[in-house]
Amino acid sequence: MTNNRYVKFTTRAIRVAQDPDKEANAVIQPIFQSATFAWNSLDEMPAHDYTRVSNPNRSTLEAVLASLENANHAVCFGSGMAAVMAAFSLVKCGEHILMASDIYGGTQRVKDKLLPTMAIEASEFDGHSVASLEAAIQPNTKMVIFETPTNPNLSVMDIRAIANCCKKNGLRCVIDNTFASPYVQNPLDLGCDIVIHSTTKYISGHSDIIGGAFICNDPDIQYRVFEYSKTVGAVPSPFDCWLTLRGVKTLALRMERHCHNAALVANYLAQNPRVKTTYYPGLTSHPEHAIAKSQMSAFGGMVSLEVDGEAIHAKRIAEATRIFMLAESLGGVESIIGYPTLMSHGAMTEAERQAKGIRPTHLRLSVGIEDSEDLLEDLDQAIARAFIGSTERVLVTV
Ligand code: PLP
Repeated sequence: MTNNRYVKFTTRAIRVAQDPDKEANAVIQPIFQSATFAWNSLDEMPAHDYTRVSNPNRSTLEAVLASLENANHAVCFGSGMAAVMAAFSLVKCGEHILMASDIYGGTQRVKDKLLPTMAIEASEFDGHSVASLEAAIQPNTKMVIFETPTNPNLSVMDIRAIANCCKKNGLRCVIDNTFASPYVQNPLDLGCDIVIHSTTKYISGHSDIIGGAFICNDPDIQYRVFEYSKTVGAVPSPFDCWLTLRGVKTLALRMERHCHNAALVANYLAQNPRVKTTYYPGLTSHPEHAIAKSQMSAFGGMVSLEVDGEAIHAKRIAEATRIFMLAESLGGVESIIGYPTLMSHGAMTEAERQAKGIRPTHLRLSVGIEDSEDLLEDLDQAIARAFIGSTERVLVTV
């Protein structure tokens, strides 16, 4: 089956470019773990020649991911950060990139550490205000990059408004759609030019690979980024592509459960007197709930909270959960708890974190697909123990 937009999302995830293989009629594409492919003659180059350039497993994954973002093209990378760098490869020395101030720390690090060495200018804008974006545009601005919902505060930016502003000013509009996943949000349909994913997260869904994807409609951009990928060689292995393809088949089912569980967790936290603020775009109390509703089909699996206490209470909760694992990353089937101050946002200074509204009382939850009652009980016991001072960890086998 080719990229058929008339077939629904769930079916596309399972069937696009995944007809039985020609050699043995295998229902699942074999892993083409080969660096190179033989030529039958010098007159005829094989479809795949050398795996840094292309590989059958990667091509299948690219077809599926393009289809899930309602796009014409995808180029897969060995990490989400490599896909971000691919977007920046479209900007030349002397040109300027505008980056939303509330963006993944790795992307920010590229702005602070790498772009200056390439003589590419970059500055920030407030992603919640199109006026701030307009005001930050310089004569040499070429690209705008943002993400929504954001990390860790899950604030929501108006994709249509940012994309319209980019269009009006002739800027390339790039969005990192990792937190939402293509099941929840399709930014190209809302006017963006390029979608980036860390496929490490929801798309692969099992915390067992690192990968990234660059997705667009414009064939010229696709070709430039494909050339970049083969030149720098930041490509995923055939096995990682195969694992990602296996994971993405259940993206819709997993996302339904992630969103369901996250809504229950958010409602529980919102009513817990030990929690000062719960951040979840699906809560009607979320300041950008209306925007979220207008651009997301569901509200995702990420929830964050600020405890009504001190940093020590947040740290104790992070160490007292029995099912939520204390770890980096997100988007896997297992629930994860993170303490942004020391983990995802640990590289920032305290002042930088304060400016972004990330406080030492903050916790970030990647709500998995386990039984929701177990998750709520786990948070309940961890919060209760954190506030009576007991911090010993209890390992449970489930
Ligand atoms: N974008 C977002 C929103 C992320 O959360 C991450 C990683 O956490 C990345 C990009 C980078 O992805 P990777 O770790 O696959 O390089």
